[in-house]
Amino acid sequence: MSDLSRPALSVVAPCYNEEGSLPAFISRMAGACRAALGEDYELILVNDGSRDKTWSIIEAAAAHNPRIAGVNLARNHGHQLAVTAGLSLTRGERVMIIDADLQDPPELLSDMMARMDEGFDVVYGRRRSRADESPFKLHTASLFYKLLGKVAEIDIPRDTGDFRLMNRRTVERLNAMPERDRFIRGMVAWLGGKQTELLYDRDARFAGETAYTLGKMVRLAVDGVTSFSTLPLRLASLMAGVGVLVAIGIVLYALYSFFAGDVTEGWTSMALITVFFATAQLACLGVVGAYLGRTYMQVKGRPLFLIDEIVTAETLKERR
Ligand code: UDP
Ligand code: MG
Repeated sequence: MSDLSRPALSVVAPCYNEEGSLPAFISRMAGACRAALGEDYELILVNDGSRDKTWSIIEAAAAHNPRIAGVNLARNHGHQLAVTAGLSLTRGERVMIIDADLQDPPELLSDMMARMDEGFDVVYGRRRSRADESPFKLHTASLFYKLLGKVAEIDIPRDTGDFRLMNRRTVERLNAMPERDRFIRGMVAWLGGKQTELLYDRDARFAGETAYTLGKMVRLAVDGVTSFSTLPLRLASLMAGVGVLVAIGIVLYALYSFFAGDVTEGWTSMALITVFFATAQLACLGVVGAYLGRTYMQVKGRPLFLIDEIVTAETLKERR
């Protein structure tokens, strides 16, 4: 049973220049909510600084349907922050994130709810196929997920976007993570708990075109890697390691040539000086990187651990 202030479900949809898709999205989404929960839902539409009629469509929808709340951001903050803003306003027992362009089918709500009823904290949509996506996007996306899988300190599921259903506890924990560069799908993975996937076919955009330009995709990829890995910072150390091996070879060769007497005058000392300073510099950069990496993680201010439950004989007895 949910009380009046907490609907069973909140849906968050970020909208950027979605005038073409929004009316269809709102009616399909509201329909899916009604089918699953009656009137026990709220639909939060976040306008991320659109330049088209998106906001007036949202206002009209909110005037018409009391379950709809429109949120108008001051300017374009980008997809991840638009979702973050929406999530911070949700009150529901469960929260769904979904794109407003109808690439994620709203009708999957009931399947996600059913999976969550089995006891999951998060049910994320995983793309079985993607309709109408350019080969370039498919390949870069797949490459990105492979790279991320290699370097990230946690397992971030492949071929997922932010389309997902989360329970209240997960959303509260997500909202409490203070980091500024937000890669939401990674942050939710980091939160752990019981998570499962729901395979789905990603539709083509209903209208309009993707706002994820190459630049935004690169930025998201950089956020993904740097949010969950300090590997780039540790590259200097790795290179210093390789550098030391190479340096030993060069030093031996330089000394050998010197004593064999077949060198131009001054070459040996130049070689030794170069090798010494190059490796010393890399090593120092590595040290700086190591401290910077730790500072970076500390500044993120993430909790050190999250406890799912604590059992004692007593609590276990109560449960029975
Ligand atoms: N979006 C947003 N702000 C942006 C870019 C996109 O709120 O700066 C929204 C957009 O309206 C859509 C979702 O984020 O609901 C995903 O964007 P898009 O469809 O352009 O990305 P793609 O599906 O191509 O990855
Ligand atoms: Mg899209």
